[in-house]
Order: sequence, then structure tokens, then C-alpha cells
Amino acid sequence: MTISTNLPVYSPISINFSYGKGAYLYDNDDKHYVDFHSGIAVSNLGHAHPRLVNTLKTQGEKLWHISNTYNIPTANNFAENLVQNSFADTVFFANSGSEAVECGLKIARAYQNGTGKKNRHRILTFHGAFHGRTFLTCAANDKHKFSELLNPYIDWCDNVEPSIESVKKAISNNIGVILIEPIQGQGGIKVMEDTFMQELRNLCDENDILLFFDCVQCGAGRTGKLFAYEHVGVKPDICALAKGIGGGFPLGVCLATEKAAQYMAVGMHGSTFGGNPLATSVGNAVLNELLSPQFLENVETRGKYLKDKLKILANEFPVIEEVRGRGLMLGIKVKTDNQKFAEELSYRGLLTVGVTSDNVVRILPPLIVTEKEIDEGVEILKQYLS
Ligand code: PMP
Repeated sequence: MTISTNLPVYSPISINFSYGKGAYLYDNDDKHYVDFHSGIAVSNLGHAHPRLVNTLKTQGEKLWHISNTYNIPTANNFAENLVQNSFADTVFFANSGSEAVECGLKIARAYQNGTGKKNRHRILTFHGAFHGRTFLTCAANDKHKFSELLNPYIDWCDNVEPSIESVKKAISNNIGVILIEPIQGQGGIKVMEDTFMQELRNLCDENDILLFFDCVQCGAGRTGKLFAYEHVGVKPDICALAKGIGGGFPLGVCLATEKAAQYMAVGMHGSTFGGNPLATSVGNAVLNELLSPQFLENVETRGKYLKDKLKILANEFPVIEEVRGRGLMLGIKVKTDNQKFAEELSYRGLLTVGVTSDNVVRILPPLIVTEKEIDEGVEILKQYLS
């Protein structure tokens, strides 16, 4: 047996990056790559952003870790900032997207049990969904992502087509929470219809079911709003954030309203690293940068600029079947193997995300990308298609 020293659960493209700056990554030979990947929507402020580097250095010299058995001022400040700028009344700090989703599912369970609806222990999720890799979040994912070698999964989820008819059919007395990505990322940059999201909200209100948005990928400014659901004008009861909110520092956040979280109490959840001074000082710096004047407007403008350019390419090259997405969360559906497509682009100096369902290549530049960098990336794509 010759198992690799890294557990063989990934199949990495063989490029070794040694450093990054803004929207560029550099390999060992100093060749530069235009980063339209952002570590799968993580490096939202690009690489080596001066404000983040400075925050990390300053905090790193003061204090890395203290336990939640004491107050953590950086976590308190960050929580306050998130609450002031979202629907939420309270937040929990975790270390990844999956953990943020897990926390929200616990909040929902506690709410339904606490309000006496003990039969409402099931979770409604959607075809194409991706919520993580823990056993429970795996069970919430699109069914075809299951590996039979991991059976049995936790049987707490019902997975349906994202349409209001299917949801109406599925909400038996047992559903306590509806978990949905406003824009599916891994599922193929699928933007949920505005009316569907609004109808979901109404249905949840009428039936006292909690609405839980997974904004792990579409949050943190990616779509030109802090949270993707702001485009639609509906608010969730619970929301998960991760990826971009840490800008590369492992950080997950679960946000909730007071009503949803009212039954959570000491010992019902926790995390040794959650709220860590390094993570929460960096997270707060990311949030402040996202909230700085014109930042989100620029994301929207750059997103439109890039999407228009991609549409022009789609007209010229029929291998691109469709251009999808909002802000800088974009995808092209291709008529060829998407993973191979993204790999070839990587070798040519453009990084995109090929590991995506529905034969889509995700295009997720850092939110600080300039028009010039977009032009450069699009030119590499054009050369490849020509
Ligand atoms: N939810 C969504 C929407 C995601 O895209 C991901 C990661 N791709 C997760 C949850 C899981 O996040 P993590 O890998 O940090 O656990």
C-alpha cells in the first residue's frame, strides 16, 4: 500500500504557489497567475492585503488565544459589528463553514423543541445544495454527492427541488427548518429566483418554520451586498458565514435572531478555537473593509463589467453555454469537461474553480480586482478558447 502522506481526498493541480499579492498569485519560478478562484471565494480582499497583514501582525504580537471561559474583547467587538450590519441579534464564532451550518441547525432544533414542537426535528434542503463535509452537513447536501462507503448518513434531511410547489409538498409536520443557499456555489452558481425566496419566507412565517440561509460562499460581499439575500429583500432567521469573512484566516460565523436563538444556553454549543483573538480581529478588519465607502458598489460594478465580457465570449465561442451569477460570484457552463477546462486555464495563468456541479466553471475573483486585471484574465480565457 502506498497511501499519500496527505489523506487522498483531494486531487490537486500540480502548481506550487509561493506568494500572492492582490489579485495575483506567483509560483516558485515567479510566473504570475490571475486569481479568479480566490481559494474558492475565501481571499475576498486578495492576497497580502495591507490592512489584514497589519491586523494579524499586531494581534499576533499581543495575544493569539484565550478560552471562551473568559471574555474575548476582539470577539465582542466583531459580534457587535456583525449585529449592527445584519438581520441578526446574536452570533456564534466557529472555524469553518460546516461548523457554522451545524451551529445553525442546533439553534433550529432548540427553537422547535423549546416552543413545544418536538416532532419538528427534520431539515428541508435542496437539490444541488452544498453545506459542508461533517456527517450532518453531508446529509444536508445534494443526494448525488453521497459516497456509499460512508453509509449510513444521518437521516435528518429531506432534499427537494428548489421550487415552491416541492417545498409545499415536503413540509410535513416534521420540518423545523429550511436550509438554503441564496446562490448555490458548488451546485453550479445557481441563483435562486427572487419570488421563490420571498415565497419561502412567507411559507416559513405561516408555519413557524425557521428559514436558514447558507451564505458561506455568497456572503462577505461576494455578490455586491454583504449578504446575497439583500438583493431579494427577505431576511432569514439564521445565517451561516465563513470563507470570505476570514479573508483566509479560518473563521465561520453563525448569525441568528433573538427569536430563533432564544433557547440556546450554556453548554449547548461551543468551540475551543471559536472567537479566537487572531480570527476575530482579522474577521473584524475584513468586515470593516467590506463596509468602507464604495467597496460593495465597486464589487457590483466590477461584477457587471466581468459578466458582460464573459457574455461576449459566450456569443463568440459556443463551448460556453451560459453565463450565470451575481456580482463577482460568476460561472460559465461549458460544453466540455469543466475540471479539465479549469486545469488548462491554470497552466495558462488563469485560476478558476472547476470542481463544480452542472459542468460549470466558477469565476470568483477577489473583490478588489481591477478592470485591468479582469481584462487580463478574460484575455487568457479568450486565447484558450481561440
Ligand atoms: N456551505 C457552502 C455554501 C459552501 O460553499 C461550503 C464550502 N464550499 C460550506 C458550506 C462548507 O464550508 P467549509 O469547507 O469551510 O466547512
